[in-house]
Amino acid sequence: MPNTLAELERQRCKLFKEIAHVGDMRRGSITATSGRCGKANCHCHDPAHPGQGLTYRLTYKIEGKTVSEYFATATAL
Ligand SMILES: [Zn+2]
Repeated sequence: MPNTLAELERQRCKLFKEIAHVGDMRRGSITATSGRCGKANCHCHDPAHPGQGLTYRLTYKIEGKTVSEYFATATAL
């Protein structure tokens, strides 16, 4: 596959156009937790208990340390 300068420039131009359409971004990953605690005998594990709903957590690294942020509201998420 020939990677001529013209072909590489064309690819770069295409990538820039694609990146321009990407929305808001954060580095890291968002995971959902069930809102139930780690204690198996706790009342929140009762199937009749409403629980606290899904909560979301953003995890990323700063200078090699893992940092987690929790979202208090849907707007924050
Ligand atoms: Zn609990």
